[in-house]
Amino acid sequence: MTAPHGPALVVRGPHDLVVEQRTAPAPGPGQLLVTPSHVGLCGTDLEIIDGDLDPAYVSLPLVLGHEWSGRVAAVGANADDSLAGAPVVVEGVLACGVCRECRRGATNLCTDYDELGFTTDGALGPGVVVPAHLVHRLAADVPVEAGALVEPAAVVLRGLREIRPVPGDRVLVIGDGTVALLAAMLVRLWSPAHVTIAGRRAEQSELAHTSHADAFTTGDPERAAYDLVVEAAGSTAAVETAVQAVRRGGRVLVLGIAGHGQTARIPVDDLVNNDITLRGSFSYTAASWAEVVRLLNSGTIDPLPLVTHRFGLDAFEEAIKILRAGDGSPRGKVMFVLGEDAPR
Ligand SMILES: [Zn+2]
Ligand SMILES: [Zn+2]
Repeated sequence: MTAPHGPALVVRGPHDLVVEQRTAPAPGPGQLLVTPSHVGLCGTDLEIIDGDLDPAYVSLPLVLGHEWSGRVAAVGANADDSLAGAPVVVEGVLACGVCRECRRGATNLCTDYDELGFTTDGALGPGVVVPAHLVHRLAADVPVEAGALVEPAAVVLRGLREIRPVPGDRVLVIGDGTVALLAAMLVRLWSPAHVTIAGRRAEQSELAHTSHADAFTTGDPERAAYDLVVEAAGSTAAVETAVQAVRRGGRVLVLGIAGHGQTARIPVDDLVNNDITLRGSFSYTAASWAEVVRLLNSGTIDPLPLVTHRFGLDAFEEAIKILRAGDGSPRGKVMFVLGEDAPR
């Protein structure tokens, strides 16, 4: 086959975003070449573009794109030939597999951090060469586009597994972006009594309903009222609200990234006196990724209705504008559709 060649969206430095022509390399032994078809854009991409992400977790220049799916275009030596042409999703955390953290299953904490779309070129280009063991096949009846939501769903699922929801929990999700909507959707796996989303944009109520939340509010959440609060807004104010909203003995999961160096004001006495568990969660593990793929392939979850905006790569400025400021309509996942699937 001829090597895929085409445009790539490259961050050269803070606020320096360009389209460059790139050629995908051929897969080596044990590797696959995957042609991305769908690539989600998220708030973390904006932080990379703006230079707001902790520099320990990004290296420039960088091809963006860490939420993606595609098809296997070429199979390297010693890799599974049956995957040729298959629709797939690819774990983006390139864990070493041998360090202390990897060996205990905490691949998200691999001491040699490397992740597609952060420290290694991501999927907004003509092709990505990846280790075959990170590639997961999508079931034939799952739209390839839905696979691009596996990454944020795996981030959410890993956090939920750590914070341990219990049946009957009254759950509050703070935030109204894709991570918040996925949190409302995935926490259902634990049969909560009630799930409320507290957002800022009234137009998101329709999507909150799509994510199976019981209630959506743009008002201040009730204080000390929730067993489990998931912070998915990515702001210090949301973390403060989360600590206020959780009941005595309750749990708070922090998933949002508020920006490098930002600090929240938390009444420390309340944390102790109210016996509150406050837990951050970074990225996803190989296990949580595999679990999300199983949930998707079995039809247990259907995140595709959360995709609301689709763009070709040439419309990247418009896509970024929509993600930053919205257009007044409900906004879930903003998706780039590449290659022959691209909107015209
Ligand atoms: Zn993301
Ligand atoms: Zn490792």
